[in-house]
Amino acid sequence: MEFNKARNIIGLRVLSDNVIWLWVKDKSVVVIDPSVHEPVIRYINDKNFHLEAILQTHHHSDHIGGTKSLIERWPNVKVIASSKEKKRIPFQNVSVEDGQILNILGEEVKIIEVLGHTNSHIAFFLKSENPILFIGDTLFSGGCGRIFEGTYQQMYSSLERIKSLPKNTLIYCAHEYTMANILWALNLKPKDQDIKNKLSEVEKKLSLNELTIPFLLDEEMKINLFLRAKNLEEFTFLRANKDLWV
Ligand SMILES: [Zn+2]
Repeated sequence: MEFNKARNIIGLRVLSDNVIWLWVKDKSVVVIDPSVHEPVIRYINDKNFHLEAILQTHHHSDHIGGTKSLIERWPNVKVIASSKEKKRIPFQNVSVEDGQILNILGEEVKIIEVLGHTNSHIAFFLKSENPILFIGDTLFSGGCGRIFEGTYQQMYSSLERIKSLPKNTLIYCAHEYTMANILWALNLKPKDQDIKNKLSEVEKKLSLNELTIPFLLDEEMKINLFLRAKNLEEFTFLRANKDLWV
């Protein structure tokens, strides 16, 4: 299935389950949440491209770990991060706020604050006929981020915000957690045909050594129990249940 004919976005699998996304246009590259630097530098050098910008969704080390070395290699790179995170993402040079619109690689990119996983987590939304969302650790296929700093209400509201985006939004998250999430969901809803179908699809992709992300918002709303939660109480039950599930 080819979702993304309009743009060239490449996923680099690193660490145990992180995915670094590279958005490439002509010879320019924008990297999202570089947990490490080596594979990013290798990819860009091999192609004779250059790094234009680094987008940071939040401050966790498995999202910013490679940033310092990338700045050393490309000193003029833009590092775009939440203005609330000047201490924890100190190398930012473009500080952004909720609702702000930037021009990156010739496209309109809107900053959407999605609190819950951390106190300042942001997502990057590329508006167009084929919209794209870089969502970091707020939403995963079949799951959502753990609530480390925010409240259940904040995370629930963040998911509601994501749900209000166009249904054909293609979502790029930062971890390949899909299989574990789907197994958890099936444990709670063993007869759910949409989730069963998703499991088959995920098994097939993983057996071919393919990523299960990105995913379409429309399809995700059918299989993700957190997006299906009808109210805060149901969401809270699910999040607490998932935290205890191994
Ligand atoms: Zn995180």
